[in-house]
Amino acid sequence: ANDLEICSVSKRYGDPPGGLLAVSDISLNVRMGEFVSIIGPSGCGKSTLFGIIGGLLPDYEGEVRVGGRRHVGTHKDIGIVFQEESTLPWRTVLANVALPLEIQGVPRAEREERARHYIELVGLTGFENSRPVELSGGMRQRTAIARTLAFQPKVLLMDEPFGALDEQTRLLLGDRVLAIHKELKQTTLLITHNITEAVQLSDRVVVMSYRPGRVLRIVEIDLPRPRS
Ligand code: ADP
Ligand code: ADP
Repeated sequence: ANDLEICSVSKRYGDPPGGLLAVSDISLNVRMGEFVSIIGPSGCGKSTLFGIIGGLLPDYEGEVRVGGRRHVGTHKDIGIVFQEESTLPWRTVLANVALPLEIQGVPRAEREERARHYIELVGLTGFENSRPVELSGGMRQRTAIARTLAFQPKVLLMDEPFGALDEQTRLLLGDRVLAIHKELKQTTLLITHNITEAVQLSDRVVVMSYRPGRVLRIVEIDLPRPRS
């Protein structure tokens, strides 16, 4: 079974016949454990597609299914990592990562143990009691990734997660995300405009092409992973 099925989704901003068709009839299946990147030029509809998949945009045509079931609204089946700062500044790293578990009502000892596991996975052991302001941008983004992983979502959705970082941090964090993917085998969808990043991290790259006023098309490139 496909973990994530995107079935003929379209999204128009504004009312027809005017308005803008930002995403036009896109279908895509992401298999369980697969890492797929979506690349494309600015304005081709990546963020709109992300909003549809993540349940952030309520009004669209088509359907998104996770594990065979229709996905509506924001739901813990899909964990989202945003480009922009999303750590809570008044909370420590540990309390940030434990937050989703707290919301789910997981008892303190258990949620802290689980949070520590994800903190270790992103390489922040020793920084549990730090606050985001004391960390670098890369470390804050790793905290956000650990927090999303703590949900144990079926699908990890990342929208330009390294976009705000410098090139060196971007590369380090990309390597780390790939290592985590290999360990957790988490179904992952990455939206990026960085083709190098997409090729380095993914099993498959989906290229969204776009000409103003014309239907976009998508091209898929399979990338056999080098054996290591
Ligand atoms: P990308 O993420 O690839 O840059 P977007 O999904 O942000 O693409 O945008 C796709 C198109 O939809 C663009 O032409 C953009 O200007 C337009 N658009 C995005 N958001 C809105 C909105 N809220 N209202 C109207 N048009 C929008
Ligand atoms: P990133 O945070 O993505 O690893 P940065 O270059 O932003 O990359 O890290 C900022 C600083 O924090 C660097 O000097 C780095 O050595 C230090 N640092 C990052 N992670 C750790 C860690 N787990 N333990 C100790 N120091 C770290």
